[in-house]
Amino acid sequence: MADILPPDSALWQRVEATARRVFANYGYDEIRTPIAEPTELFRRGVGESTSIVEKEMYSFEDQGGDSIALRPEGTASVVRAYIESGVAASDPVASYYYMGPMFRRERPQKGRQRQFHQIGVELFGVAGPLADAEVIAMFDHFLRELDAPSITLEINSLGCPACRPSFDRALLDYLHRHKGSLCADCNRRIERNPMRALDCKNEGCRHLIDKAPVISEFWCGDCIAHFDAVKRELGLLAIEYRQNPRIVRGLDYYMRTAFEFTTDRLGAQNAVAAGGRYDGLVRALGGPDVAGVGCALGIERLILLLKQHGEEVKSPPVFFAMLGESAREAMLPVIQALRAAGVRVEWDYSARSLKSQMRRADRKGARAVVIVGDDEVAKGEVSVKEMATGEQRAVKLADLTRHFVKVEA
Ligand code: ATP
Ligand code: MG
Repeated sequence: MADILPPDSALWQRVEATARRVFANYGYDEIRTPIAEPTELFRRGVGESTSIVEKEMYSFEDQGGDSIALRPEGTASVVRAYIESGVAASDPVASYYYMGPMFRRERPQKGRQRQFHQIGVELFGVAGPLADAEVIAMFDHFLRELDAPSITLEINSLGCPACRPSFDRALLDYLHRHKGSLCADCNRRIERNPMRALDCKNEGCRHLIDKAPVISEFWCGDCIAHFDAVKRELGLLAIEYRQNPRIVRGLDYYMRTAFEFTTDRLGAQNAVAAGGRYDGLVRALGGPDVAGVGCALGIERLILLLKQHGEEVKSPPVFFAMLGESAREAMLPVIQALRAAGVRVEWDYSARSLKSQMRRADRKGARAVVIVGDDEVAKGEVSVKEMATGEQRAVKLADLTRHFVKVEA
């Protein structure tokens, strides 16, 4: 679990602000759910056979004897809230976005933490392929807006309750024949959810999985039509994608469209965002039979990527170097006025020499330094040094706000 410190926190804010702005333009509103829920919600919502529920959840018994878990992902909570609020029953077409911390007890490594953060969306009540395409398009838009480098969209269809069972049988058959060479996790998984084996990161398993049956050979007519329509929509939006039959999702309820935004710049942890359709989930959690499509993005991985790209958010201050207490007192309302006008103002809290104040201004990356001594106060003007050019000139106190606000605009 990591701290997020400046200057990185500014980059986080930019990512979050961009998500809010872009998602709002698609008609999505924010939903905030608690970070802890009854463990049972995730058992049912994420799925018993998933690695999240099997071994990654931080769950504990509280003082009242209830089993509580820190949320490992966002979808189950959003679905619960969507049902509990009555929206699912009264006006099922609804779209939400969320952002915040998630918790999984995994082995920490590059791009993998135990507290990490996701930005996610859920679109309920639309069974047709336009929903899948819109969610993908929205994330594509968001990542473009941030200028995230080297991102590939990979898509697949996981079939539906009509065709998936025959694929599961064929896959199970294949996995049984190679049981001896599969890892312990896969051996445990195959009885409960054989598709999970396709997601195994183990080298030995990967090798076998490359030759396993491929889902596309089992799709029913409806699944083919749905997937074709999603691809057509993406084509109309000029969104490039790669079809990858090995994309599966970690959650049990995914069906039909599954997708990932991956990058080749982060090593093994290559999925920046991932999502898909989960039509059975709302009903499984006690709501009406409502379709759903969602996607979640890992903020840490996105930030790693943006930083590799040299991305940095700077907000250089105007720095006040003040000599003596009377200068400081005279500047107090001036500084307040500048801040009220939206200018970032910093000053040296200790009354040190001009030289050391200038050094601090430099360290702070100031865009300008306002130098004020008793003489200046008496004349009603200050000396402004532009740090980029080194040029210094007198500015009337009355003009100071206009001076900086104009420069900033
Ligand atoms: P992975 O296969 O990379 O573990 P996942 O399938 O477990 O991903 P999801 O549950 O789909 O991931 O979560 C969506 C996104 O959240 C991932 O694509 C990733 O960017 C991010 N993410 C998931 N787990 C972690 C983690 N432990 N630390 C940081 N980011 C994570
Ligand atoms: Mg994972």
